[in-house]
Amino acid sequence: MPFTFNIQSSANSARMGLFSTPHGDVETPAFMPVGTLATVKALDPEDLEKAGASMILANAYHLHLRPGDEVVRAMGGLHRFMRWDGPILTDSGGFQVFSLAQLRTVDEQGVEFQSHLDGSRRFFTPETVMQIERNLGADVIMQFDHVIPGQSDESSARDASDRSIRWLRRCLHELKRLENTDPSDALADPPDPPFHQALFPIVQGGIHPHLRRDAATAIRDMNDWAGYGIGGLSVGEEKEAMYEMLEVVDSALPRTHPRYLMGVGFPEDLIEGIRRGVDLFDCVAPTRMGRNGAVFTRDGRLNIKRNEFRTDPRPLDPDCDCSACSRFSRAYIRHLFVSDEILGLRLLSLHNVHFLLSLARAARQAIRNGDLDSWSRNWLARYRSASPLAV
Ligand SMILES: [Zn+2]
Repeated sequence: MPFTFNIQSSANSARMGLFSTPHGDVETPAFMPVGTLATVKALDPEDLEKAGASMILANAYHLHLRPGDEVVRAMGGLHRFMRWDGPILTDSGGFQVFSLAQLRTVDEQGVEFQSHLDGSRRFFTPETVMQIERNLGADVIMQFDHVIPGQSDESSARDASDRSIRWLRRCLHELKRLENTDPSDALADPPDPPFHQALFPIVQGGIHPHLRRDAATAIRDMNDWAGYGIGGLSVGEEKEAMYEMLEVVDSALPRTHPRYLMGVGFPEDLIEGIRRGVDLFDCVAPTRMGRNGAVFTRDGRLNIKRNEFRTDPRPLDPDCDCSACSRFSRAYIRHLFVSDEILGLRLLSLHNVHFLLSLARAARQAIRNGDLDSWSRNWLARYRSASPLAV
């Protein structure tokens, strides 16, 4: 089996385990840095490896538009193209089609839209998206789904969820066809054994518990998936609604497989998600925030632009052992940032990514030690008791 999941220790719904892929193992719970365009912005793959990243993301919509998934395939697939030898997951682009692209027309066949880059007309169907994700060659590929706004009414949420399940069946069928017609694919590295990808379904259903439960049940009954995506959360709904949906999905999905909560990864969400049985997280926040001067610390967030850091000799976070914190002062990084020096952006991104990777590592340790409850309570209490310098 090219994809396996072994739970090594658990605490109520939370679990610590090992998700194995053809490109290596992922210790879970894990935070996955986001490399939308086949690069985690401002960071070199070596930086990511040193920071402890095991699996990273890339995005099918963006890479299809630029440089083109055929280009990536011609270069040997994403792993070789971007020089990341570890596991990669590609998002299908469903979210981008519905959030970035213009003039969308959705019907049962798929979505016609205009590229946000040059206005060119494109047509995404479950089949074309599988072809794109096959060309990109990630280990885990997400289904193409119908994404709707977070607080949609029940009838729209049901329509989108039901359509996503019908599209999932087509994705699975197309992926099997591609694997059978192209078994010794040029993307296989090494070429033997054959190139395998795990298709993850996405549980939708908005903030409606029975829709989430129905979706999880229908998806679970369709196939023996290597793992499950949970989509459409942290898109504007109340936190409590997100936690409730996670609890519903936790009880409806098999506990034997990894669950990936898509697009969620702020520190508090990561901890609350882990407590509710989530194993994989991703979020663009650490690098996006870094580019705005915002920094995660154990004592809450701070913004390096603030005047009081002009002569602050301390590291960004005294508790962090990243290569930015182990060498540079807040004063120096603030100077770089306000002077628009590239190194400033790099150091802030590096620290923020390191922070979330370390948080996931600490959570794994807490599960292993059997003290997840007290660890997470203490961690969140300190993080939320904003210090005078936090913003
Ligand atoms: Zn740091």
